[in-house]
Amino acid sequence: ATFAEIDLGAALNENIRRCKYVRPTPVQRHAIPISLAGRDLMACAQTGSGKTAAFCFPIISGIMRGPPAGRPQRGGMGMRTAYPSALILSPTRELSMQIHEEARKFSYQTGVRVVVAYGGAPITQQLRDLERGVDILVATPGRLVDLLERARVSLQSIRYLALDEADRMLDMGFEPQVRRIVEQMDMPPPGVRQTMLFSATFPKEIQRMASDFLDNYIFLAV
Ligand code: AMP
Repeated sequence: ATFAEIDLGAALNENIRRCKYVRPTPVQRHAIPISLAGRDLMACAQTGSGKTAAFCFPIISGIMRGPPAGRPQRGGMGMRTAYPSALILSPTRELSMQIHEEARKFSYQTGVRVVVAYGGAPITQQLRDLERGVDILVATPGRLVDLLERARVSLQSIRYLALDEADRMLDMGFEPQVRRIVEQMDMPPPGVRQTMLFSATFPKEIQRMASDFLDNYIFLAV
């Protein structure tokens, strides 16, 4: 099969063609239909497997087809709170920047807005980006906790959650932050969130995360 035969929405299909992706990689071939069908997914996939597109395509497609996104809302002192529809968590600044770059290419002319927020960089520009509106937030756990504490981001509207390189996030000691972040989404309305967990390895800690965060999930090893 080719991407042209998978209906992801005209604008996204056009962007995939522009990126010169013709055939899905194995992880994409299996993960995309599972996610389009609305199922939660735990995927064992390595760097270079094409996993970024595997979680970005269903998210962008779902946002394009879904209800209109929430507008930033005014909080105290004239600050605005952003209400993204999708969150992609990644362990490092470098990986977040890469995901952001790819997600922006895929969402070109779709109306889907992608913002990145990572630590080790001034927060000011990231706050300005969030104020302009965000559908997909790509973030590292520490910086996202900071944004949540400042009430500049709310996770109440999250319909799609992707955890990329989850084993690396645990190795780097981010489990408490990741749990805090996911707990904020477990508020009502229940059952509307779709979660994708990507990890290169599948040790006990990841299995536990999968059973805590995912609902009736499909396990994929490629
Ligand atoms: P990733 O594993 O997501 O980091 O992707 C690895 C590399 O493969 C990136 O440079 C992608 O742009 C590229 N890539 C991903 N999927 C495809 C595809 N279906 N066809 C061609 N290149 C791809």
